[in-house]
Amino acid sequence: MYNKLTLDDLDFAGNRVLVRVDFNVPLDEHGRVREFTRIKASLPTIHNIIDYDSPVILMSHFGRPEGKRVEKYSLKQIVPEVERLLGKDIQFAPDCIGPEVEAMTRALKPGDVLLLENVRFHPGESKNDPEFAAELAKMGDVYVNDAFGAAHRKQASIHAITKYFPSNAAAGRLMMRELRFLGRALINPKRPFIGVVGGAKISSKIETIDRLLPRVDKLLIGGGLAYTFTKAKGESIGDSLFEPDKLDKAKEILSRPDADKIILPIDSVAATDLDYGSERRTYLTREIPDGWRGLDIGREARAKYEKEIKAAKTVFWNGPMGYFEREPYASGTRAIARAMINLSSRGRIAIVGGGDTMAALHKFHLSGSMTHISTGGGSLLEFMEGKELPGVEALSDREKV
Ligand code: AMP
Repeated sequence: MYNKLTLDDLDFAGNRVLVRVDFNVPLDEHGRVREFTRIKASLPTIHNIIDYDSPVILMSHFGRPEGKRVEKYSLKQIVPEVERLLGKDIQFAPDCIGPEVEAMTRALKPGDVLLLENVRFHPGESKNDPEFAAELAKMGDVYVNDAFGAAHRKQASIHAITKYFPSNAAAGRLMMRELRFLGRALINPKRPFIGVVGGAKISSKIETIDRLLPRVDKLLIGGGLAYTFTKAKGESIGDSLFEPDKLDKAKEILSRPDADKIILPIDSVAATDLDYGSERRTYLTREIPDGWRGLDIGREARAKYEKEIKAAKTVFWNGPMGYFEREPYASGTRAIARAMINLSSRGRIAIVGGGDTMAALHKFHLSGSMTHISTGGGSLLEFMEGKELPGVEALSDREKV
């Protein structure tokens, strides 16, 4: 990262600044933005450019429209929120490429902000298509990538586009902040270094667990994905979440010499179904009977995880410990959140990432005092695993400029 061009190296001089932001924010059922972290996180870069009296052109993806125009994924609906958070009116372009949109970018006055329509309305985005990237590149004179949350994707507005800005593709403030902080904290972490991984689907996390295990001193596992591991040990899990096609991989991980670093929840809060009124009981995880499913880590597991986190110097957490959206199953996730805040307040390093984990922190009103809440989900995991992020690697090198 330190060899990459940053916002502070760019020559603004009235240039149109094309900024790739990550405005992929969750909406509620009325189509209103219910979580603003990602928009807020991009404000320092936008304000900086406005301060330099340059026009700002923002581009982002939003949802998964799969290369077609789908109104429910129009970025138009977030315009009022961006205006409110930015404290100024912005303009909106009905597309992200084309001569009319380019004319709009050229008509911008110093400090004006224009948001382009969803880049994923075009199939070229996900294909990292150079021709689509060339069209996008016409919208700016210099390029800034501030979308840390999307930096692991090799897509046109992140990767192919930088070819058209060989000496002026720079990292924005948020990107710099994330990479500097995460690099310092995680590349050579203060030990004990503990990973906490949860969430429903083991399929989306097993590669992470695979690569994280050699790097951490302990790995605490919770959420639905714990049950495939429990099953892989030959134990019963009742009707808990289970992904049969990941069983062999889970077995392989558990048979490694360092598998003793993995800690699974000894007990679970289980229910017969997801209804609020349904009966709940705590079982040893290996004894959850048929007809019952584990929906949260149990009291003993909670105490064990709190103790492990308390003794750590660096903790990285991604994924809820249970079905936290329903209060009866929120205790495990809340306990981890509190232990992480506690760690932060003792000057140790607590790093949290991922959309669901962030949503949990907001629900518990516990997001204020964490050492670092990353805007990355997939990108954070890939960074942690030591992978190069295509969106960073593609930025201009300082020494070449
Ligand atoms: P993921 O997208 O895989 O990170 O999953 C996040 C979702 O998993 C959240 O909505 C949680 O409520 C849900 N979740 C976590 N643990 C469980 C569990 N034991 N059973 C069902 N859902 C769970």
